[in-house]
Amino acid sequence: MKNTKYVFVTGGVTSSLGKGIIAASLAKLLQERGYTVTIQKLDPYINIDPGTLNPYEHGECYVTDDGAETDLDLGHYERFLNIPTSQANNVTTGRIYQSVIDKERKGEFLGKTVQVIPHITDEIKERIQLLGNTGEFDIVITEIGGTVGDIESLPYVESVRQLLWELGHENAIVIHLTLVPYLAAAGELKTKPTQHSVKMLMQSGVSPDILVCRTEHEISDSIKRKLALFCNVKEEDVIESIDAKTIYDVPVLMLGEGLDKVVLKKFQLPIDKQPELKVWNEFLTKFKNPKHTVEIGLIGKYVELHDAYKSISEAFIHAGAQNEVKVNINWIHSEDLTATNVPRKLKNLNGILVAPGFGERGIDGKIEAVRYARENNIPFFGICLGMQMAVIEFSRNVLGLKDANSNEMDSETQNPVIDLMEEQKSITNYGGTMRLGAWDCQLLKNSKIANIYKKELISERHRHRYEFNSSYLEAVEKAGMIATGKNPKTDLVEVVEIPSHPWFVGVQYHPEYKSTVLNPHPLFVDFVKAALEHSLL
Ligand code: GLN
Repeated sequence: MKNTKYVFVTGGVTSSLGKGIIAASLAKLLQERGYTVTIQKLDPYINIDPGTLNPYEHGECYVTDDGAETDLDLGHYERFLNIPTSQANNVTTGRIYQSVIDKERKGEFLGKTVQVIPHITDEIKERIQLLGNTGEFDIVITEIGGTVGDIESLPYVESVRQLLWELGHENAIVIHLTLVPYLAAAGELKTKPTQHSVKMLMQSGVSPDILVCRTEHEISDSIKRKLALFCNVKEEDVIESIDAKTIYDVPVLMLGEGLDKVVLKKFQLPIDKQPELKVWNEFLTKFKNPKHTVEIGLIGKYVELHDAYKSISEAFIHAGAQNEVKVNINWIHSEDLTATNVPRKLKNLNGILVAPGFGERGIDGKIEAVRYARENNIPFFGICLGMQMAVIEFSRNVLGLKDANSNEMDSETQNPVIDLMEEQKSITNYGGTMRLGAWDCQLLKNSKIANIYKKELISERHRHRYEFNSSYLEAVEKAGMIATGKNPKTDLVEVVEIPSHPWFVGVQYHPEYKSTVLNPHPLFVDFVKAALEHSLL
């Protein structure tokens, strides 16, 4: 059993400072030094999980192997660390309260008055230590969502205060991420907002051990000294986090600043093994020195907010670097596409990806995009709803089933080529009730997809309620679209391909969730390769 150490990451001054990336970068460095590390995100909102949140609110909902619908930061953790996260890695206030209220209903508090302190804080502390108690990790990094001073963050900060006291300073520390703004008129970096946010933290009884300062300009030693003096930290514990060109630079920058070293020093853990970041740096070199550029159209209905497709755009970064190609994502709103304007709007593309999604809005444009890719031999990649749109387009325009549709969009259609899954028919509650998480998929020997994966049994993550209606499979296959991946137990169609097309693949699952810097996803890598070939035609 390991004596797990805890790092808490809080944020001050403003939101969006990139706590998740700092946490992931620190974890990466510690991992490179040989420590086992995991990261957890505590989200102060009352939703039970982000699954039912509109993507415009917090961006994409990330799905883990064990079927948790989580905050997109978990995607960064996996992409940086190359190890899977789970339900325990994301906790929301809603879940904390749900659990406490359930216990109260069961009489577990023996008639006591149930209060924020100690009942809610006890529950938070239990969730924080859940990962540590597995004995698997040397270090657990817990990111507290929100900004210090928010009413909704208070129980979390109080829980941190209690844990610091209970676990002792050699076992638990706080990193406070803050903003040091530059005032152009004064020509100066300003420390006051940081002083105030640290003061705010101290009012809750928590004193930061390390300050990580987001800044647009280098922080001089004298500013560091000033911050140290006013914020009760040592000068070496003031870490500069200068704006980076890419999030993947941050581990390298943090290594330069010695963030991992000061953390290990506080825990009195050995710092002899230097992080090499060999593969990481190789990736960065390729990413920054592309030999070609490809234009990929990402067709979706939330494209105004790129975070809604975070894992997809990151998977393109990994796949681009692998191919030494710069992937230019053209964000295309599916509502803007019509049969008449598609040839003009999509004509410069070397690859078309139709994105996942829910509901009717924008699906006609998605179908037109599939048609254009299919008829013009442009590499096509359909993910989840994108795969379903490919089946609908094929059924309408090749099979001639003019009203072919998904029951999700038209419950009256005579040709529901995409139908609600049997086990979904009795479900009335939204939230955690889709077909979620990792499922096996058997690939057809010698199919394009089996050749891409270089194996025939794969496991990928899912998040959907509808499926390919197998009563249409024979007709669809006869017309030239083949099911090349199926669930080995239920026969549910997971992959469709058009073998007569240079690259036309639709997958019911979400490959983007499993792409990491160390393991770029083979489907994305091959799609980018096909786009490169298209660009050279
Ligand atoms: N709306 C579709 C379904 O539920 C697709 C979901 C998705 O793209 N994640 O099956």
